[in-house]
Amino acid sequence: MRCLVPSCSGNYQDKEISHSTQVKDELFVVDNVPAKVCDTCGDTVVNPKTNEILQKIIQEETS
Ligand SMILES: [Zn+2]
Repeated sequence: MRCLVPSCSGNYQDKEISHSTQVKDELFVVDNVPAKVCDTCGDTVVNPKTNEILQKIIQEETS
């Protein structure tokens, strides 16, 4: 898949990343999140379904 950054001609590669999200004063880090990472500029795309799961994990952690 072609990179979404207009000035970049790289391609996304499937990788597993550490995704971090700040909720209030706490930083949550979820490891091994499947994502697409541009091999040229490093832009990261997490698909909406994965993002939804991440939000659920964080909600459970904070409740
Ligand atoms: Zn790129």
